Amino acid sequence: MLRNTVKAEPREGNATTTKPYPHRLNFYDRPPLYDVTLEDFETCAIDRLRVLAEIESSFVRNRSHEELKAVTTAQCNKYLPLRVDTAKGDTDLERRNDHLGHFVLRLAFCRSEDLRRRFVKAETTLFRVRYETEGVNQKDRFLKSRNFDWLEVSHEEKKQYGEELRIASSIKEGEEFENESFVKVKFTRVLNLVERRKVFLLGGWAYVPEVERSSIVFNEYEKYLTKALELTAKALPRLDEDSRLVPILSNLSQGFLAGAPSEWAGASDATDVDGITADMIDELAQKHFPLCMRNLHRELRDSDHLKHFGRLQYGLFLKVLGLPIEEAIAFWRKSFLKRMNEDKFNKEYKYNIRHSYGLEGKRANYAAKSCQQILLSDQPGPSDCHGCPYRHFSPESLQTALRVTYPAVQGDLPEIMHTVKSGHYHVACTRVFEITHKGTGVKKGEGVGGGESVTHPNQYAARSRELEKAQLESLIPAATSSSVAMEI
Ligand code: SF4
Repeated sequence: MLRNTVKAEPREGNATTTKPYPHRLNFYDRPPLYDVTLEDFETCAIDRLRVLAEIESSFVRNRSHEELKAVTTAQCNKYLPLRVDTAKGDTDLERRNDHLGHFVLRLAFCRSEDLRRRFVKAETTLFRVRYETEGVNQKDRFLKSRNFDWLEVSHEEKKQYGEELRIASSIKEGEEFENESFVKVKFTRVLNLVERRKVFLLGGWAYVPEVERSSIVFNEYEKYLTKALELTAKALPRLDEDSRLVPILSNLSQGFLAGAPSEWAGASDATDVDGITADMIDELAQKHFPLCMRNLHRELRDSDHLKHFGRLQYGLFLKVLGLPIEEAIAFWRKSFLKRMNEDKFNKEYKYNIRHSYGLEGKRANYAAKSCQQILLSDQPGPSDCHGCPYRHFSPESLQTALRVTYPAVQGDLPEIMHTVKSGHYHVACTRVFEITHKGTGVKKGEGVGGGESVTHPNQYAARSRELEKAQLESLIPAATSSSVAMEI
């Protein structure tokens, strides 16, 4: 993929077309043969991974197909837009990014059978959602551009088996049946339709009505992708020699476990402006922090201290939440006061706090840790408090922590623990967010907005604060009018 040529632009479908991507829908049967920067390589893959991770979360959450479709479409519009051809905008660039992201993720997810299976399932669902939301003409053009190896059922044959075809496909007699066209394929290609008794079977052929034709397309896509991933897995050892790609790919392959890797940037614009002070942290923790940060805050208050990785995880979270450096020093100083004097604090801790704000050492602006980083790196030992409770606590400790921290989740504990048991920690955290924010109007399945799952502790806290703010603002006019009424 990182070959040194720009001439062999990918063509799909109709070879005579001059456009590199004539359709929004893509079977990805040609790899990208152009140069890409490492940045593009990673960005396109992460954008696609956000969509696929949300699809995987939807399976875990038993969303109906309609709900899944709505969530996926919203995620696609945000991270993976693919517009129909218009005079406006560069659709080729969007389709190129879509194409590139797909192939990078193939490299990341071909490594084990389990990853391949999950990737194929999520990708096929994404293809299906796009197919179902595609315009009739575009869909038709796409279908004609490929050979799906089906045989059109002739008028005579349709007439000969008219009754059987009509009954099997549940089509009404008359005009509706007259207008329906059928194709036939070997029945093994549409086992799902055979199982649902949606097709007429004869001599090993399944007669598929137009309304069910999409099944052939989806099955074909799934079969093709499964095979392609197995081939990629065989070629992978050669790629593993490239030390630039290995860390990127292994990071991406964790996406289904911990959500897409995310750098939370939204917090600065959403909350910084409010100006947080050290004295506000207790209340903010109580109202808005996810379990990982609630746990660190509780430990800090109980033992007046946090170990190195705990300070790092919590300190960077507070920084991105909007705690200015002076307030951060005041917060940590006050928190440690019972354990040490001012002199020890200044010598051993103040420098590190300033360092995390980019004011010492190499003056880097360190980002707060995402769920993926918290879940997968710096694994906590028995006496540590950092990490993600959903992953790093024993089931008993987690249940106790959830009951104590969020009493409202009591009735939903079995569902939450089931999600944790299946290894979808950030999905469990998202469910807790929904339950604890029911009072602000958050519904089941809505996540932290638009069905999105939690991928960053700061995203959790920022959304929680946003909801509270919106609720308070909605109460102001009522409060003002009632106080006016009382004055009168
Ligand atoms: S899923 Fe993320 S935000 Fe939630 S507790 Fe774990 S690390 Fe924190």
